Amino acid sequence: MKKYIIAIDGPAASGKSTTAKLLAKKLEYVYIDTGAMYRACALRSLWDEIDLQNTGQLEKMLSDISIEIKYSAAGNQIILDGKKVTHRIRKADITKLSSEIAVIGAVRKKMVELQRKMGEKGGIIMDGRDIGTIVFPKADFKFFMVASVKTRALRRWKEAKEKGEELNLENIEKELIWRDNNDSSRKIAPLKKAEDAIEIDTSDLTINQQVKTIYQIILERTCRSDIS
Ligand code: C5P
Repeated sequence: MKKYIIAIDGPAASGKSTTAKLLAKKLEYVYIDTGAMYRACALRSLWDEIDLQNTGQLEKMLSDISIEIKYSAAGNQIILDGKKVTHRIRKADITKLSSEIAVIGAVRKKMVELQRKMGEKGGIIMDGRDIGTIVFPKADFKFFMVASVKTRALRRWKEAKEKGEELNLENIEKELIWRDNNDSSRKIAPLKKAEDAIEIDTSDLTINQQVKTIYQIILERTCRSDIS
């Protein structure tokens, strides 16, 4: 049975990762969060006190970085150089730094190489910014998720609140706008919809509706029978 490659791209908080995670569970596929890999890379640059303008330092770091994603039903664990960094990489300093480090060609080259290796056998759902355009331009399915900045900021605010964190909605909105601009204006692999990607506006959709929409499209296109 064919194991598909499903690419989901879009800006921060557009619903990619929650949808991808649930869909992966439903299809019994592996979920690969490529944003977490850029975040891990940013954290390592902080540990090593790397000057991002210094190509030599960066290349040395990239030559021995180890990023593993441990798959589990309870949620994937991100392991950087043998250490669990799943929660650390979600902090605000790393969020900003990950977008800064993601503009660097050498970093992207390394991440894309790792991502292609992780996904080459199929049976994966990979989310990010350049999966349908660069990492797997021949992916079997490509989705591009969007939502208004207000909706996205509110989602992040609620997620934080559920974890007991009080964040300022206006600051979240500013951070999202900054990141959208930084991610879409970079020269290499900018955030953009692949020409053949299906756009899904999640502004007025619940998580279940988002999953259902994508699932339905996959079923229709594959005539149900060969999804495994
Ligand atoms: O998806 P997430 O918000 O965790 O990604 C963090 C940052 O990593 C993004 O703002 C973006 O700059 C970068 N990224 C990227 N390409 C990807 C995934 C993430 O440039 N495929």
